[in-house]
Amino acid sequence: MTRVGVLALQGDVREHLAALTALGVDTVAVRRRAELDAVDGLVIPGGESTAMTHLLRVFELLEPLRARLADGMPAYGSCAGMILLATEIADAGVPGREALPLGGIDMTVRRNAFGRQVDSFEGDLDFTGLDEPVHAVFIRAPWVERVGDDVEVLARAAGHPVAVRQGRVLATAFHPEMTGDRRIHKLFVESL
Ligand code: GLN
Repeated sequence: MTRVGVLALQGDVREHLAALTALGVDTVAVRRRAELDAVDGLVIPGGESTAMTHLLRVFELLEPLRARLADGMPAYGSCAGMILLATEIADAGVPGREALPLGGIDMTVRRNAFGRQVDSFEGDLDFTGLDEPVHAVFIRAPWVERVGDDVEVLARAAGHPVAVRQGRVLATAFHPEMTGDRRIHKLFVESL
């Protein structure tokens, strides 16, 4: 049976575990190398990408995770997870404590892109492949500034890509795990 991991170092891990479990997926929290090695796909939750990068180093998962992504492991990242799945991060943070790109999707993602005035907001977005709009919750969200030729843009907000897919790696700047809408997790699971 296909087993999906949720990177469980920091962030809204429980919500992703719940979303995947609700879809009937065999789901496991990933904190160690052996757990990473045993999954067929990985969700990287929302949270704080600089903190997650730090913990990936502490738990010696940074390079193993990069290697699995380079090897084609399916992945889904929301918000901080989207940032980490980029090949390049703009405004990555203070040198030495910055968020580091893991690769997975050929894109440049800008952290905290929507700025202070609209620190957090919600909106209904058209989403390629879904019949009804997605109610999207953005919390200090990134946006995508550049995508490579092989990257599909699935949704936009304020003109910027906020949902993208390259092969079996999916990323959203917003948090479907928080709204009870399972359609985006389902898209990911169906691609496994
Ligand atoms: N601003 C956060 C970061 O840089 C992301 C916010 C979120 O995941 N809700 O990682």
